[in-house]
Amino acid sequence: MYKIMTPGPTQVAKNVLEARSIPCTNPDLDETFVEDYKKLCEKISTLLNTEAETLILGGEGILGLEAACASLTEEGDRVLVIDNGVFGKGFQDFVKMYGGEPVLFTGDYRETIDLEALAEFLSKDSGFKYATVVHGDTPSGMLNDVAAITKLLKSYGILTVVDAVSTMFGEELDATYIDILCGGSQKVISAPPGLTICVLSEDAKAAINNRRTPIRSFYANLKVFFNYYEEKWFPYTMPISDIKGLSAAIENIENDSEILTRHAKIAAASRKAITAAGLKLYANSGYSNTVSVFEVPAALTAEAILETMRQDHNIMIAGSFDVFAGKIIRIGHMGNNASVENMKETFGALDMTLGKLGFEAKASLLEEFVKNI
Ligand SMILES: *Cc1c(COP(=O)(O)O)cnc(C)c1O
Repeated sequence: MYKIMTPGPTQVAKNVLEARSIPCTNPDLDETFVEDYKKLCEKISTLLNTEAETLILGGEGILGLEAACASLTEEGDRVLVIDNGVFGKGFQDFVKMYGGEPVLFTGDYRETIDLEALAEFLSKDSGFKYATVVHGDTPSGMLNDVAAITKLLKSYGILTVVDAVSTMFGEELDATYIDILCGGSQKVISAPPGLTICVLSEDAKAAINNRRTPIRSFYANLKVFFNYYEEKWFPYTMPISDIKGLSAAIENIENDSEILTRHAKIAAASRKAITAAGLKLYANSGYSNTVSVFEVPAALTAEAILETMRQDHNIMIAGSFDVFAGKIIRIGHMGNNASVENMKETFGALDMTLGKLGFEAKASLLEEFVKNI
């Protein structure tokens, strides 16, 4: 098996694997499961430093994004889609699918969202039911100042949906003005893919409860969860082994007081190493601490770099997709991937890979990383 250094899924700790493999009760009938589920949800809210209610849905990260749009959108609703990356733009598809009218605010894909430009835009047009924004747009490693953006949006009474799938617990996040915050199990949290986390504010719940029309979905309907605790009932059988694994992974995060600073240090040292080696970071601003992204050097191909890393070194890093396909390489240093040892191994292998493919580096990635960490 390859050592995965991809920006999700990430390496899963032994205690998480073990927690997933123990015999389970019937989560539909055994009320201890409802209690355990609620405690885990409350712990996630506490760790995110928010009063908003966490729900865990059975489905990969995308389900949370779709559920947020499905649950908020009504026919003809105008929705502001803040777009400076693949996931940012992608929200428009969910908005359309559920009958809304997406309006794009598109920024330069190499730059973090410009708050002043957004303020200027909103001063002319702010008639939106909600807005979507991505915290860390993983395909390009772009980080947006979600706290400031959501504060601005809320000042216009616009509800806010935030995709923090790749940043949740790896990046500082003030959730005060976020109405639906989405996370996933397979990124920083370092559990296998399969669960999505939606954290709902009272405003989000009120908007969902006050809809004129029913939600056009069952599986992507957040409202069907609203009374799960009072009714001791879930809309579908909950994936209990996944949830046990998540619980262990969240406990690991709870016991890891250095998690945010470690992500920040590793990311800063990685960026310095990449630049010192003569490679070009993709972004000009807004660097996520969970993934490093650099351009494929001229005369090399992404496929050759990835293939050599896998074949010669047994390490899997990632290319990208959509408008970035073939153009950039991504190293995912999120969750359990984000250790100095993992990064040293990855950069050492990348030094050899780039050398073998004929790239003349200005410095060794490994040496520069070690110097800067
Ligand atoms: C990983 C990720 C998701 C979930 O999407 P998949 O493509 O299914 O992995 C959603 N949003 C962001 C920003 C992500 O990084």
